[in-house]
Amino acid sequence: MNRASRTPAGGPAPAAAAAPAPRPFDPRRVRAEFPILARAVRGKPLVYLDNAATTQKPVAVLEALDGFYRAHNANIHRAVHTLSQEATLAFDAARETVRRFLNAADAREVIFTRGTTEGINLVAQAWGRANLRAGDEVLLTTMEHHSNIVPWQLVAAERGAVVRVVPIDDAGTLDLDAFHRLLGPRTRLVAVGHVSNALGTVNPVADLARAAHAAGALVLVDGAQAVAHARVDVRALDADFYAFSGHKVFGPTGIGALYGKRALLEAMPPWQGGGDMIRTVSFAGSTWADLPSKFEAGTPDVAGAVGLGAALAWFSALPFDAVAAHEADLLAHGTEVLSRVPGLRLVGTSPHKASVLSFTLDGVHPHDIGTLLDLEGVAVRTGHHCAQPVMERYGVPATARASLALYNLRDDLDALVAALAKVRALFPL
Ligand code: PLP
Repeated sequence: MNRASRTPAGGPAPAAAAAPAPRPFDPRRVRAEFPILARAVRGKPLVYLDNAATTQKPVAVLEALDGFYRAHNANIHRAVHTLSQEATLAFDAARETVRRFLNAADAREVIFTRGTTEGINLVAQAWGRANLRAGDEVLLTTMEHHSNIVPWQLVAAERGAVVRVVPIDDAGTLDLDAFHRLLGPRTRLVAVGHVSNALGTVNPVADLARAAHAAGALVLVDGAQAVAHARVDVRALDADFYAFSGHKVFGPTGIGALYGKRALLEAMPPWQGGGDMIRTVSFAGSTWADLPSKFEAGTPDVAGAVGLGAALAWFSALPFDAVAAHEADLLAHGTEVLSRVPGLRLVGTSPHKASVLSFTLDGVHPHDIGTLLDLEGVAVRTGHHCAQPVMERYGVPATARASLALYNLRDDLDALVAALAKVRALFPL
């Protein structure tokens, strides 16, 4: 939402988001836009390295949320009064911002969801139940997040379809030979993560989509971990579906989007019924609204959508190449300094990698690592990262994971390593 829309009650209605103006990238200045990063944890400056779980929010997003509730809050699409019209405009503007962010051809191809999980479940339930037949195959990879595994297991069990899995090598790179072997005439859908949350591996989704389409299959991309790190262009990728969560790209929790090619979405039945998704309702039967409403039953998270629009506008205004170079430097620096910690093993060392440093430390359970790091103000994630097949592949119950965002600095990684030295001192090799 723009500055004008943050005026007190009675201010102008939110305008459709304008094309973002490029601005220089200085990680320290960008960091200062995130109030939470200035707080202390356990008496130490916060070192936030859990960005794959959720990113922090810049002032632009906090103000957009606050401004919406202070000045424009109303339900959308349902009333002629001014607030409802303003809220509807703001909601529609957010959809247009998502469209532009993904480079989708048409805003009707953008469905607001609660996040990646809901987007994938939508496709599994609406497309999968209508299209999968006994013996059809859905091709996944070992490195998928549970939210890109379980929805397919549920619909496959119901439809008699089969889930197949493309393995990964020791570095965490997808085995492309196996992918081509497994892709066959029975494959109806390839569902693959753009970037792995447990390993950081970046998958060649455009190549996978080309091969899948040649085999007559559709492609769903789980973009949860890509949106804050890669330039996403659903048309260049030729993804049939692309799901992401707002909270992983500097936006609020509870909102995300699913992109789907228009013809596919139009052919799919709705998956949830309720207000706003219908054209007519009678006890003899009901008919459905056009896209995108057909897939947005009930009151949506209007403020969340506005916050997501603000996040994407904020992020898109940064020079992407400079951000990418900064993140590449952080990843290289983190890899180097962590590799020097005695007994530390990095899990996920693909040459095609982004923003994730998963590791184990000999003789220390990952949960102990997490707890001890927290005492130093360092926030990392420990556990299976909702990717139990990855843990199984590497024969570990869990890892500790430092994950990066554009506001991190080399100092954060140095603080992590200093804190790990204290852990090592408590658990000598
Ligand atoms: N896919 C990947 C790769 C993820 O990392 C995550 C969250 O960590 C998800 C899907 C699920 O995202 P959400 O919980 O926001 O729906």
